[in-house]
Amino acid sequence: MTGFRESPWIMHYDASSCNGCDIETLACLTPLYDVERLGVINTGNPKHADIFLVTGAVNEQSKDVIKNIYHQLPEPKVVVAVGICACTGGIFRDCYNVSGGVDSVIPVDLYVPGCAARPEAIIDGVVKSLDVLEQKQREMAALADCIDRVVYLRAERRDAPEILALQKVAYQSEAELYGDDSLPALQQTLEDLEKDFERRPAREASVPDGRAAVDHPQDQSDRIVFIKAVVNGKIIGSIRGYAIEDTAYLSRMTVHPYFRGRGIGRRLLQEIEQAFPQNRRFETKTGHQSKRNHFQLAKLGYSRYKTEPFNPTVTWVYFQKERKLQPQH
Ligand code: SF4
Repeated sequence: MTGFRESPWIMHYDASSCNGCDIETLACLTPLYDVERLGVINTGNPKHADIFLVTGAVNEQSKDVIKNIYHQLPEPKVVVAVGICACTGGIFRDCYNVSGGVDSVIPVDLYVPGCAARPEAIIDGVVKSLDVLEQKQREMAALADCIDRVVYLRAERRDAPEILALQKVAYQSEAELYGDDSLPALQQTLEDLEKDFERRPAREASVPDGRAAVDHPQDQSDRIVFIKAVVNGKIIGSIRGYAIEDTAYLSRMTVHPYFRGRGIGRRLLQEIEQAFPQNRRFETKTGHQSKRNHFQLAKLGYSRYKTEPFNPTVTWVYFQKERKLQPQH
């Protein structure tokens, strides 16, 4: 952590600033303020940066660039919105092509208001962001220390906000892989996900269009099952599944990028399979370029059986697995 504190590296991006906040940001580097003497480095490579400093409101042209840069910064990272335009959209927020402040596309940790934000305030924001960075670093180290104590539990509706936040982080790598962020997992809203906890896919499939399914509140067996991987009280992975007749359909296996490669995805799959002891067949799908998922599914006994175009960039590859039933005596 000493490295972060003593020499934070900053990536500055002008989202659509009038140039006022950019000039103030650059003034921080000039001999008058000279933040480099404090170890602050303005880098052009997001992969080397700890702090993402954004000026200007987010518009149609800059929103994808912001997301792209943000996902290239290694974890842990901090986002600082500089100037009232970056904080809220400012005087441009009602423009037809402006979606608002930086937090309309990525999570922001610190807001430095002002029009233009003064260099002293920007330096103050960077110094405060170091505390946030340190806190995130501590949390991640604590989670990493407990990784062998992951517990796998049934998730409930109240877990929906945390599962959705995890889903949005975890599926960014897929969006980058396909150059497409229209994947359903990234588009899902909290309301949708909360409804999923109430859905009964088997019953929906069995009733004709337009007729409501008969509800049996006591019978919970046909609801979608959510499994979560929890470490130190935080959800770091999840998966869901439901059964229709003989097949259990599994989807949205999600592991936080920081905890990949530690067997959590494999355990999630095994746990959800155990949640459907009566089903003989399992089915799941993933994108055609998601080779890591293909590899993992093959290792767990799944084989690909069909493909189906989803959109011009993504083709779903379907995998299936038959459960080996124990002979009954
Ligand atoms: S906050 Fe003011 S100075 Fe900064 S980009 Fe917006 S209009 Fe320009």
